[in-house]
Amino acid sequence: MKQDAKIVFPIPKDNYYFYKVPNQFLSSLEIGKRVYVPLRNRKTIGYIVSIEAAPDNILLKEIIDILDEKPLFDDQRLRFYKWISKYYFCSLGLILKAAHPGGLGISLNKTLKITKKVIFKINTSIKDDIEKRVLQALAASETLTLGKIINLVEGASNSTVNGLISKKLIESEYLVEKNTNIKTEKIISLSKKSKDKDIINILSRKRPAKGNIIEYLSLNDDSPYSILKELFGNISAHIKWLSENAYLVIDNREIIRDPFSQLEIKKTSPHKLNPDQQLAFNQIKHAISSSIFKPFLLHGVTGSGKTEVYLYSIAEVIKEGGNALVLVPEISLTPQLVTRFKSRFGKNIAVLHSGLSEGERYDSWRQIHEGKVNIAIGVRSSIFAPFKDISIIIVDEEHESTYKQEENPTYNARDLALVLGKIYGAVVILGSATPSVESFANSIKEKFHYLNLPLRAENQSLPRFDIVDMKKEKNPIFSGKLHSAIIDNFESSNQTILFLNRRGFSSILICRACGDTLMCPNCSIALTYHLTNKSIKCHYCGLNESRFDNCLKCGTILYEFGFGTQKIEEEVKKIVPKANVARMDSDELRNKNKLLDLYNKLENKEVDILIGTQMVAKGHDLPGVTLVGIISADMSLYNPDFRAGERTFQLITQVAGRSGRGLIEGKVIVQTFNPDHSVIKYASRQDSTQFLNREINLREKLGFPPFSKLINLKFTGTKDHETSKAACSARDLASRIIKNYPLGKINILGPSPAPVYKIKNKFRWHLILNSVDQKILHNFAHKLVSLYSKSYANFNVKVSVDVDPLTFS
Ligand code: ADP
Ligand code: ZN
Repeated sequence: MKQDAKIVFPIPKDNYYFYKVPNQFLSSLEIGKRVYVPLRNRKTIGYIVSIEAAPDNILLKEIIDILDEKPLFDDQRLRFYKWISKYYFCSLGLILKAAHPGGLGISLNKTLKITKKVIFKINTSIKDDIEKRVLQALAASETLTLGKIINLVEGASNSTVNGLISKKLIESEYLVEKNTNIKTEKIISLSKKSKDKDIINILSRKRPAKGNIIEYLSLNDDSPYSILKELFGNISAHIKWLSENAYLVIDNREIIRDPFSQLEIKKTSPHKLNPDQQLAFNQIKHAISSSIFKPFLLHGVTGSGKTEVYLYSIAEVIKEGGNALVLVPEISLTPQLVTRFKSRFGKNIAVLHSGLSEGERYDSWRQIHEGKVNIAIGVRSSIFAPFKDISIIIVDEEHESTYKQEENPTYNARDLALVLGKIYGAVVILGSATPSVESFANSIKEKFHYLNLPLRAENQSLPRFDIVDMKKEKNPIFSGKLHSAIIDNFESSNQTILFLNRRGFSSILICRACGDTLMCPNCSIALTYHLTNKSIKCHYCGLNESRFDNCLKCGTILYEFGFGTQKIEEEVKKIVPKANVARMDSDELRNKNKLLDLYNKLENKEVDILIGTQMVAKGHDLPGVTLVGIISADMSLYNPDFRAGERTFQLITQVAGRSGRGLIEGKVIVQTFNPDHSVIKYASRQDSTQFLNREINLREKLGFPPFSKLINLKFTGTKDHETSKAACSARDLASRIIKNYPLGKINILGPSPAPVYKIKNKFRWHLILNSVDQKILHNFAHKLVSLYSKSYANFNVKVSVDVDPLTFS
């Protein structure tokens, strides 16, 4: 039977292409390997997704090379990728690219070479000096990369090269390079000959320095070169002689770069589970042993010992030889969790997150792919961790919006955990102290099995809440109560967390005369003022300029409105000058090491007061924290979003949950202008079940998710009228095709300008589709998108599809 390769490429167009497979590749032909193939007028890399005979009527090009020794994915996993592709309106090729980030040992480099016939005429027919020197450089060597040319020829640039290409004097080509990027170290071991005692004795007598090395090795089997050097000083001549005379064998062994090597890991043993934990674990254990897909919602108050239940469940899976995938919402959370996991499971863990270097990521990926570890922990993209088989998937803090990717593919890793679990017949645990409305509704419908940990692990009480009405306070930042609580807590040597419920990190600038806010010229968003370097910044486009004092329109002096973490830090230092104060926000902690450092200081109580935004709310288990101050609880309450209440509730509950995890009872002070708002009230009672039941009723009345599904078509373009026109024509098209669908099943909302109307000088419009029936909605949206792109698409306006959107900014 004819065997052709069906290939997809990492491009937005959802097409596949057939290639002929030359005989020499037939034996290594497998689904999941990458190939190097001609595509139109270039050569590029694609993925084999099927091996089958191509239709007879097409002329096939040939594969140039098969690049991988082992497939990146198998058929089972491909089913997963195809599901994502269809559900999230993204080409299979781009899904494969997202699942295999970085080159994974292979890179594609643009190289340039001179056109044959030019070589003899460079000196006579080329006038421009730079062009001439570029051509001479290329004539002297076979091919060069663009970077090399720019380095080699002074004055040469991208445009010189492009000019030469368009004059057909040089050609560009993409070449694959295997850059395995595997880090190795030199390992020294004894040869057969050196295992003979007599030979060692003779050597030791004649050449004692060399003898010492051999003796050390005979006691230690083998040793890295670096360690021998540390022990015996400058050994290079000895090692050279010993290996030339066949006493030693030198090998290069692969080493794994460990991004968490600085973490101090103490071996810990499991806690004895309390009765609630035991009850939950028993059910999970039962599901693990029956090896069928079973989803759980583990709803446990903050500090109830959910992580301990995860650890037990994973240990159970490992005992049976299975693999475990653990998803966490954010890097700031990872160090502590990684420490806890490593202290239980040692080296059997690979860590995946976006802060890894390319080499580190490749190392972790290979460890999982080759079955060298059984556990992977990471952020949302770890849903693609390449295990051959998976027995358990844990999604910690399942309510977190960081599981949703905002750019194409707009997947939600929490939801994909369930899809993946179904494919592998795995147990899936979604854990949270504040479950999402969606997951809680699923547990009511018994789609998820509900597990509850209503008490803290060692029966510590939940923190006491104090609600302060800020309308009655003089100081806009610290109420009298919070002010004195900060002092008291510091004086009794306890730690405090101050939380600012606010995305921006700082204040905005407003003109007293015309009332104008200083806005970003590229985005329809206010610029924020940063105290430390006196700069104004835009958090959408990255604009960063030094502050100026006067309104651009009328020249009146600008004043600062509102406050950010920097301002709070300043004020706190006035209240308790002796306290060690630290800030945790993404501006501060871009860098992995800085974060580890801060985390260590918090654990060792070298920080008394921690100030931060959302990041401080997440998962940290710091027994020394006994006071949490929520400076402004209201900020997210009035966002124009049906999830505003849910988010605010989650934030307050989560950040409050950092308080009183140790022996001393914790305290939470909530500052609000709306002390009677139901969300604030439910949060202060820390009763998520009541809150969720109320919220579910509300959503049902309004027909919002989970009682309907949403798809947001986003239009972005550089011209406002073009963008709105594109959105309107999609709306017209939608109104026409809706007639083929059952009456009233689909609602079209908009188009309307996005709440943040302009980002990076691009205008943004939304068209939202909504239906109670997911299948009908997706069918409709697929039809709409494909018809639109065939007949209406304006190439200046980009359309992206946000499936199950979590935010609408
Ligand atoms: P959660 O993940 O629900 O916030 P953790 O798993 O972090 O809770 O547990 C909170 C604290 O209680 C941790 O310090 C943990 O070591 C401890 N802990 C958990 N389970 C037990 C138990 N059964 N007995 C004693 N301490 C426990
Ligand atoms: Zn901007």
